[in-house]
Amino acid sequence: MKAIVVGAGIVGSSVAYRLAQAGASVTLIEERGVGGGTSRVTFAWVNACEKLSSEAYYRLNFAGREAHARILEEFSDANWYHRPGVIQWQGAEAEAGGRDSAEPLDKLRQLQTWGYPAERLSHDDLHRLEPELNSEVVGNAPVILYPKDGWCDAVVYAGSVVGGAMERYGLTLVDAKVTGLKITAGRCDGVVLADGTVRTADIVVNCSGRWSNDVASEKEYQIPLAPTVGLIAYTQAAGVKLKRALRTPLVNMRPDGGGRFMLRSNELDKLVAADAAPTTDHPQAQELLRRARKTIPALEKIEVEAVRIAIRPIPKDSYSAIGPVPHLDGYYVAVTHSGVTLGPFIGEAVADEVINNRTRPELADFRPSRFFN
Ligand SMILES: Cc1cc2nc3c(=O)[nH]c(=O)nc-3n(C[C@H](O)[C@H](O)[C@H](O)COP(=O)(O)OP(=O)(O)OC[C@H]3O[C@@H](n4cnc5c(N)ncnc54)[C@H](O)[C@@H]3O)c2cc1C
Repeated sequence: MKAIVVGAGIVGSSVAYRLAQAGASVTLIEERGVGGGTSRVTFAWVNACEKLSSEAYYRLNFAGREAHARILEEFSDANWYHRPGVIQWQGAEAEAGGRDSAEPLDKLRQLQTWGYPAERLSHDDLHRLEPELNSEVVGNAPVILYPKDGWCDAVVYAGSVVGGAMERYGLTLVDAKVTGLKITAGRCDGVVLADGTVRTADIVVNCSGRWSNDVASEKEYQIPLAPTVGLIAYTQAAGVKLKRALRTPLVNMRPDGGGRFMLRSNELDKLVAADAAPTTDHPQAQELLRRARKTIPALEKIEVEAVRIAIRPIPKDSYSAIGPVPHLDGYYVAVTHSGVTLGPFIGEAVADEVINNRTRPELADFRPSRFFN
């Protein structure tokens, strides 16, 4: 089978790797460099604990966590998945497709019932684990520790699995922009590139994230999206110890290597314009810094070193859209928020469906067909 995968973010690189491993002859087409899209600007918390709006969505994200562990074992030099734990306290906002955690102890009970590694942390234990934390910002809020959670360096991941697929399974990586699908007698049998070249395949998998509908320019094959803007501020190297990620009402923050911290907030994202320049004096970046300093007072003299802004690829109802697109054989799409959590699982599932003809039940509620009559 000849497959074309469009987009080498965390989703497309996972799909290309698994398809090639399963024996397909795979061409991966990417216009911005591997990991050059939204996967370059992400908090990248690999989790299912923010996905309680439906059990199916929780299970899907849980499968994402498990698939991360599996692909890790296939790369002896893997250095992208960090799992020191994540700490959360009251009032933290829901992610897309998530539920507001207004009742943290209800949430904890639900997660424990579903077998998620999560426990209540006493304030003394919190101080022992993260001594730099200002206990005043926590107040008397209940604190939850996800001891096995962490984050994935999505660009490192994408680079590694694409490199692995080239080396081991003969994947071809093409640096080009796809401008449309090639459709012959009602079937998708390839793509057209910006220079007019046509590439043919038995199956095209569109993993181009927020740009998905530019690749399929025909309206009848487009997934309705409701993208949102996200801003991430990166601090200077700080020499300050914070081991785990924090998800808090003020700021979400975590170590980002080299002593830097990554800062973000859903609340502040709502104030960011999609076309804003990602400058270090951006008001929301400065507000993130103020909140981070309040949370970790030792950051007092540390400044924002870089800012990045991205658009989240979110299907209109906030849930993933993964599967064949109705009325167009040969065309499959995988567009989702929480792509960092889900990417490795999507790779496995797409390979199973496309190569082995095995329908994956985990995807039953997340088919693109729900958007089409
Ligand atoms: C601020 C922020 C915080 C986030 N936090 C989390 C989190 O904590 N946990 C989590 O799981 N997720 C999180 N996400 C979401 C996650 O980052 C995305 O869902 C994920 O990166 C999407 O990956 P992707 O591979 O689908 O898209 P992308 O990474 O955007 O990859 C798509 C690729 O397609 C390429 N492409 C597009 N059009 C074309 C074309 N026409 N021709 C060729 N190539 C093309 C692009 O260049 C790009 O490289 C966050 C996102 C943001 C913005």
